[in-house]
Amino acid sequence: MIDAVYGADLQSAREELVACGVRLLGKGILTQTSGNLSIRLSPEVIAITPTSIEYDKMKPDDIVVCSLDGTVLEGAKAPSSETPLHAAVYQHRDDISAIVHTHSGHATTLAILGMPIPAVHYIIASLNTTTVPVAAYATYGTPELAASVRDTFQAPCMAVLIANHGMVAGGRTLKQAADGAETTEILASYYYRGLAVGQPNVLTADQMGEVFAKYQRKPADASTVY
Ligand code: 13P
Ligand code: ZN
Repeated sequence: MIDAVYGADLQSAREELVACGVRLLGKGILTQTSGNLSIRLSPEVIAITPTSIEYDKMKPDDIVVCSLDGTVLEGAKAPSSETPLHAAVYQHRDDISAIVHTHSGHATTLAILGMPIPAVHYIIASLNTTTVPVAAYATYGTPELAASVRDTFQAPCMAVLIANHGMVAGGRTLKQAADGAETTEILASYYYRGLAVGQPNVLTADQMGEVFAKYQRKPADASTVY
């Protein structure tokens, strides 16, 4: 499945990562140099954004190719400081072939509060879950943070908040992971606004069950969110 999605087409993966970073920057999901993106090229090899380069200055050649143990295989730039986190998720989840990590505002606000996102809107079904959980805090870029995210990010759920840090979304493709990050931010913004005014109503298991049943009947090429 992994090879079927991306094959060994490294150049298109490099271009897609840069374009996706610019797109998410334009939507306010990414800012400055915060967050990072990766694509799994083969079971043991990933392409990941470089550390500390602004998304609108990033070039396809800046993308770094690494093995899952962190060894740089190609690229002059240093890989993202969160390469251990990306690697841990790929090792743990064979249903994920692309990852988007962001510090987007509402998701990070809920993560600071230690609040998982419940089913306040049916589009949470597009993340294959009824709750977006919160992984425990650890210092950015550490194996401890990688382990925390890995342990909280359980299949089939496609997004997780990171306490006092941000969020991580996964997908089969980079487009799916980016859509997942955007959906997580949108859900967080709805929940945050609801909490600011009153007590948000949460959809019941039966109500969400009907949504999952409808999602399963969607055409395979439909976009992930209605
Ligand atoms: P990098 O620039 O090293 O990818 O780090 C950004 C970040 O979000 C760290 O958690
Ligand atoms: Zn981060």
